[in-house]
Amino acid sequence: MQEYIVSARKYRPMTFDTVVGQSSLTTTLKNAIASDKLAHAYLFCGPRGVGKTTCARIFAKTINCLNPRPDRESCGECESCKAFDEGRSLNIHELDAASNNSVEDIRELIKQVQIPPQIGKYKVFIIDEVHMLSSQAFNAFLKTLEEPPHYVIFILATTEKHKILPTILSRCQVYDFARMTMDNTINHLKNVASKEGYTTEDEALQLIAEKADGGMRDALSIFDQMVSFTEGELTYEKVCASLNVLSTEYYFRLVEHFLSKEVHACMLLFNEVLCKGFDGGNFIAGLANHLRQLLVAKDSTTLPLLEVSEKTKQRYQEQATKCESKFIYKAIKLCNDCDQAYRQSHNKRLQVEICLIQCAQINEEDAPGSGLCPSKILKPIFRLGALAQPTPKTVATPKQETNTNITQNTIAKSVQTQSARETQNKQTDIRTRIKLGNLGPSIRNTGIAKDNKPEGTTKDSPKVENKPFKQEDITHQWHAYVERMPIERRAMAMRMKNMMPKLINETTFEIMANNPQICQYLQNLREHILQEIRSALCNNNIQMIVRIAEVQELEHITSKPALYKKMAEKNSNLQKLAEILKLEIC
Ligand SMILES: [Zn+2]
Repeated sequence: MQEYIVSARKYRPMTFDTVVGQSSLTTTLKNAIASDKLAHAYLFCGPRGVGKTTCARIFAKTINCLNPRPDRESCGECESCKAFDEGRSLNIHELDAASNNSVEDIRELIKQVQIPPQIGKYKVFIIDEVHMLSSQAFNAFLKTLEEPPHYVIFILATTEKHKILPTILSRCQVYDFARMTMDNTINHLKNVASKEGYTTEDEALQLIAEKADGGMRDALSIFDQMVSFTEGELTYEKVCASLNVLSTEYYFRLVEHFLSKEVHACMLLFNEVLCKGFDGGNFIAGLANHLRQLLVAKDSTTLPLLEVSEKTKQRYQEQATKCESKFIYKAIKLCNDCDQAYRQSHNKRLQVEICLIQCAQINEEDAPGSGLCPSKILKPIFRLGALAQPTPKTVATPKQETNTNITQNTIAKSVQTQSARETQNKQTDIRTRIKLGNLGPSIRNTGIAKDNKPEGTTKDSPKVENKPFKQEDITHQWHAYVERMPIERRAMAMRMKNMMPKLINETTFEIMANNPQICQYLQNLREHILQEIRSALCNNNIQMIVRIAEVQELEHITSKPALYKKMAEKNSNLQKLAEILKLEIC
């Protein structure tokens, strides 16, 4: 059986000309060799898998070649070149500092430095991952690095230049290796594939190059994996499936759905993506990227920024012509907002779905007078039945707007609804607004809410019948309110969470603050809190008193001995524990 050699090794460049993507650097090295101006120490920096060690080996081979070619490359035929190619040359020493970083390892290396080369002119010492050397090893090495014998050249390689000590940096000629560009990687993979007789699609190679993120070695090793998965037939679909990457096909389809305002199709597509095991957050990030590509493809001046195959570029251009720039901006904004809110969301799926629905509705004309931006409007996809309270179009008048803005400014988000698409012609005038903040409580309190108007209820609606409520209802509503507080008020929400609203008569509850600032804050928020709680409990007579706690109450709240005393009263074991452990409560 023929020995299998991984592509990264099999196609490792043997001359400077075959090194991919580092032409300016290899030219400099070749010129230095030609003019015989060799430094005694080089530092090769750059990301992993871009050819640092390869260049170091080519360099070592070239300077030792007995019959260098006119183009300053090694001949590949002389005894020295053969020894290099067969890996038996004594003129090259490689030390992996990641695993050999002790003083002993360096001492061993220094011993080798003393022995002059047998064939060829130079002995080359390559120290890989040199930033991993211990500080003692560094110190032991410094002297030799500064004044090595004339036949010795050190090539230090590192992925983390910033970790190299200035004393080392100043003694080396520094070469910075560039990351592989997408084109370089794709072309090289194409080259390898054609030599091996594999069939490839440009999009598939593109995907591998993206995954490798600028490293050629990684690209080749992913390529090898893909070859064995796909049995040498690297199609986009197969590579997508084995790399567990979501096909761009989904995003192209999704944008088509957005443009034709097919909300249900978007929801189904998202469901399909989730069923395949993809994460909603990544999906939204991918969608944002797709929209960005569309934006770039829209303008011929930005088109070069699109690092994709010709075929895909054409698809982006086609889709971009169908989208107005305004649509793309808004959709990107929506995706970005969704991405930010995603991590904190309790219902992540819904978060993505809302974003998709809003994207699908960007192109829909807003009712005249509706000044809300799309991120704040959620038009209905389904008839909301009992929840929807048809009201005339005047809902969107400026006066009502202000009302909503207050709500938004404080806590609740507003959700605007209108009748379902199929009945749109008949009822375009009908719009209803539901406060999201009220949705939670009204669902939890369906028993209370069903024979009332939970959404429209405000303190001045005249017809509401005031329902009785208990301490636990107030406690529950208080916590529900705190839960809905926006993230920027989290510190306050945490404090409010620890406060216990106390019902002091049938309609009034009291809340105690432990300092005047908090008291004032709650006073300011009072109207809003009441509005929400009254609405949720269907009782417009509810009152709230805020006062500063008395000293003894405060001690009861804050002092640890008091807390301990109270706990010990309830559980005598606690006192025993304190006695056994000789704890002092202070
Ligand atoms: Zn040679």
